[in-house]
Amino acid sequence: MNIVIFGPPGAGKGTQSNLIVKKYKLYQLSTGELLRKEIQNNTELGKKISSIINLGNLVSDEIVRNLIENYISKNIYKNKLIFDGYPRNLTQAKNLDVILKKNNQKIDIALKLSVGLKTIKKRILERKNLEKRADDNEQIAIKRYETYEKNIKPVIDFYKDSNLLTVINGEKPINEINDEISGLIKGIKGWL
Ligand code: AMP
Repeated sequence: MNIVIFGPPGAGKGTQSNLIVKKYKLYQLSTGELLRKEIQNNTELGKKISSIINLGNLVSDEIVRNLIENYISKNIYKNKLIFDGYPRNLTQAKNLDVILKKNNQKIDIALKLSVGLKTIKKRILERKNLEKRADDNEQIAIKRYETYEKNIKPVIDFYKDSNLLTVINGEKPINEINDEISGLIKGIKGWL
């Protein structure tokens, strides 16, 4: 069971991934969180990417590919990953497929959380008070939303064509979304 979950900033990817990993003993792989950790730890990579992230742009496909490959290749994560915030574009979706194949794995479910810009702005401003993320201000949130919209269409088509895509209304209450995702997971043959 490997899942990808994508959606605009503030769609609830992190919240839902968190709930699912606890319920089904999976592991959350948030590329955004891994990148923020690099910045916090002031690593060479962190120094290189902080301005890119703080401007709401995407870091290079190569950097995130290396991050996810580290996880996918480890046995404890085998068939137990939720990719939160990856892939963000078609190249990343294809890279993910190649790496998974190399490790005898695949994606079982692709979830798209749909949320309108008005809700996103509201959620991001609320989150700013809780998490203190440098990229959670209105201007950068809009930029991140635009970056998402600009790149995601071919990713949606990619998973639609593979019959893996489920679109979820991300404006619904957290528990309803969670029930919907749980239903999908339970429907996967050979799982549970
Ligand atoms: P997130 O926590 O998913 O909202 O990601 C925060 C920021 O990290 C994004 O705005 C990007 O700058 C960067 N980032 C996260 N995931 C990716 C990815 N898959 N590809 C490129 N950049 C990413």
